[in-house]
Amino acid sequence: MTADQGGKLRVTIVGSGLAGLTAARILREQHDVTVYERSGAARATGGQGLSTTPNAIRILDSVGFDRARAGSVKSRGYRTYDKAGRLVQEIDPRHEETFGVPALTHLRADVRNELLRLATAPSDELGIRGHPARVVFETPVTGLDAEKGVVTLEDGSTVEADVVIVADGIHSRLRELVLRSAEHKPKKAGLTCFRSSLLAEQARAALGQLPNWWTEHYHMFAAGKDGTDRFILLYPTRNLESMNMSCIFQTREENKDTTESWDANGDVEEMLGVYHDFDKNVTKLFRVVNEIKMWELQDLDPLPTWCRGRAILIGDAAHAMTPMQGQGANMSIEDGEAFRLLVQPGVSADRVPAILRRIDELRRPRVDQVVKNTRESSFGLSAEERFTRLFQNADYNGIVDYATKRAAP
Ligand SMILES: Cc1cc2nc3c(=O)[nH]c(=O)nc-3n(C[C@H](O)[C@H](O)[C@H](O)COP(=O)(O)OP(=O)(O)OC[C@H]3O[C@@H](n4cnc5c(N)ncnc54)[C@H](O)[C@@H]3O)c2cc1C
Repeated sequence: MTADQGGKLRVTIVGSGLAGLTAARILREQHDVTVYERSGAARATGGQGLSTTPNAIRILDSVGFDRARAGSVKSRGYRTYDKAGRLVQEIDPRHEETFGVPALTHLRADVRNELLRLATAPSDELGIRGHPARVVFETPVTGLDAEKGVVTLEDGSTVEADVVIVADGIHSRLRELVLRSAEHKPKKAGLTCFRSSLLAEQARAALGQLPNWWTEHYHMFAAGKDGTDRFILLYPTRNLESMNMSCIFQTREENKDTTESWDANGDVEEMLGVYHDFDKNVTKLFRVVNEIKMWELQDLDPLPTWCRGRAILIGDAAHAMTPMQGQGANMSIEDGEAFRLLVQPGVSADRVPAILRRIDELRRPRVDQVVKNTRESSFGLSAEERFTRLFQNADYNGIVDYATKRAAP
């Protein structure tokens, strides 16, 4: 039996990443929300920096995301360089004029902390109705009965809910329990990424001054264009005080065993070796970066469904993709917002499975297309084509608007 206390549902969310916390922020307005997170409060996975595009910004704005608290930097666009450091192309999409909102860059920990605040701060402080979500850290979920909405915690206890949102990331443990099949696993994309960050003072020390793409708010994209699929993506974060560095290259045999985990350590000499023929103004920065992490990029083939009974997969658990279009987190935020369909008058526990199927029906084809575009961006697409596909995502304005537009003749 499920409880339906006058439209108030019991919601369990597994995972406090960007997907889970966005869902918590939406659902707390009407329902009792508990988030179980296996790690501590400071956990933030998935790369040091994060680019958010207008599709996610509209959603973040709609839930009171405070850009000042998150140190968000407005991104002007993209400057593409060749490996010798010559400017090849500048793309300024005029986000605000074209899409009504900017694109932003951040430290991803800052985005997660702000979403955590939005999920858990007192309702008065946020000026919204409902009650704060409860986040239970260091509590892994180990089992799920999707039909009944029951999760099992590591200590063996069980929790029954009307809705279970599975947002436990790319290596989701619960995915196979929703799909009743263990065959849907992420696949290696053939590319490895060195991830790092550095502070403005470190960059000044290395170069004498900050590069102009940094002070002028551009993404700096340096591409090998020599058949090696090597490129470097840099962009400013946290009020221009720090910088994200993602350096992607074809996976090499010797790295294959070391890059399974987000936390594998990279080595600066190895990084310098991979990019030995790139502009020295860029590779000089390698010597002063903070910790270097190394990860082999992976993605997930489209799933046959995201939901079963009272449970639904979202975020990387549903559609892990590589960062080649910078859309994984943006899609995770879109997913979290889709639970507005459960924040409606008259929603009751017995309608939950049908509403989850509706979310699946609306979200999955859109995200499958983004995964396809991301895959095609990995190898061989021109910069123009890559950006054209990226901008196709930009006009999204939430699930209700999307459903209305799709229904229009
Ligand atoms: C190098 C790199 C750069 C990227 N850059 C961008 C970018 O610029 N823009 C963009 O949009 N996307 C980017 N992405 C993708 C983005 O990081 C992910 O798509 C996004 O973080 C997914 O969020 P999530 O909430 O689904 O998963 P996660 O952030 O992985 O969160 C999952 C959470 O679930 C918890 N968890 C796992 N298992 C359990 C369990 N059993 N019980 C309880 N808790 C559990 C984990 O501890 C974690 O906190 C990038 C990815 C990479 C690798």
